[in-house]
Amino acid sequence: MTPPILVAGSLAYDDIRTPLQRRREVLGGGACYFALAASLYAPVRLVGVVGDDFREEDVARLARRGVDLRGLVRREGRTLRWLGRYADDLSTAETLNTDLGVSADWWPAVPAELRDTPFVFLANADPRIQLAVLDQIAPPRMVVMDSMHHWLEYERAGAAAVMARVDVVSLNEAEVLRFARTSDLRDAAREILALGPRGLVVKRGAHGSWLFTRASSLWAPAFPVERMEDPTGAGDAFAGGFVGHLAQVGDAEDAELWRALLHGTVAASFAVERFGVEGVEAMTRASILERYRRLRELVAIEPAVPEREPFAG
Ligand code: AMP
Repeated sequence: MTPPILVAGSLAYDDIRTPLQRRREVLGGGACYFALAASLYAPVRLVGVVGDDFREEDVARLARRGVDLRGLVRREGRTLRWLGRYADDLSTAETLNTDLGVSADWWPAVPAELRDTPFVFLANADPRIQLAVLDQIAPPRMVVMDSMHHWLEYERAGAAAVMARVDVVSLNEAEVLRFARTSDLRDAAREILALGPRGLVVKRGAHGSWLFTRASSLWAPAFPVERMEDPTGAGDAFAGGFVGHLAQVGDAEDAELWRALLHGTVAASFAVERFGVEGVEAMTRASILERYRRLRELVAIEPAVPEREPFAG
C-alpha cells in the first residue's frame, strides 16, 4: 500500500489578477494545491484551518480526491484571503493584500491517528507553526518544506531551524539568493545544505528547476506548456508531484529525488495552464505519465542524438 503524506498549510480564497483576467474568491492556499496534486500519487492527509465562510463545495473538491480531512479545522471567522497581481510576463507575483483571518492565531493540532505519517510536506507558514507540526509527528521518513520571503527575512532563525529538521528545502530562486545573501546560486545552495537538509530544490519558473544535494546538482527544464494562464500555486503543485512520487515509489534516496524533480515539473505545468486549482484538478495519472515521458525525452539527448566523441581523431 502506498504510504500516506501529511500536508500542513494554508487553505485560502485568492483574488488573482493576471494581465488578462481578474478572479475573486478562488479556492487556493499552499496545502490545497499540494493536496490536489499529491493525491494522484498517494493518500493525502491535510492539516489546516478554514473559516465558517469556507464553501462546502470546496470541501467536496478535496474529498473527491480522497483527501483525508480529519486534520482540517473549521473556526468562526474568515478563511485566509490573499490578493495577488502578476507582472506582464507572469514571472513575479506581487502581494497586494493578505488577510490571515482565522489562520492568524491558529496553532496546529495533528490528530493522534495521523501522527505516524511517513511523508510530510510543510507548506509555507510561520516557521513556529512548521516546527509545531514536526514536534507532533513521530520521526517521518521524509520531510519537505516550503517558505516565503517574509519568513526567510523576518523569521530567519526560525526558518533555519526548520531547514535543519527537514530532508529537502523547496524555494524559488529569488528566495534562495536573498536568504543566503549572495547572487551565486551554488554558494547559496552550499549554505542552505550546511544547515542540515540533504536536498535543495530551487524553482526558477519558466526556467526550470535545480536540485542540489551534497554529491551533485542537476537541472530540469520547465515542461513547455502551450499557454500559461495563472502561476499561482505552481510551487505547491510542484511539491505535490515531488513528494507524491517519492511516497508512491516508497523511496526517498538521492537518485529518486531526480525523478521526483521531473514529477514536480509536470505537476507545476498542469497548475499554471489553468486558473486557480483548476489545472491540478484536471490532472490524471494518464496525463501525468504522458508528460513525464515527454519530459524524460526532452532531458535525454540519447538515443535521439547518438554520441560522437569530440577530438577523437
Ligand atoms: P505559490 O504560488 O505556490 O507561492 O502559492 C500561492 C498560494 O499561497 C496562494 O493560493 C495563497 O493563498 C497562499 N498564500 C499567500 N500568502 C500566504 C501566507 N501568508 N500564508 C500562507 N499561504 C499564503
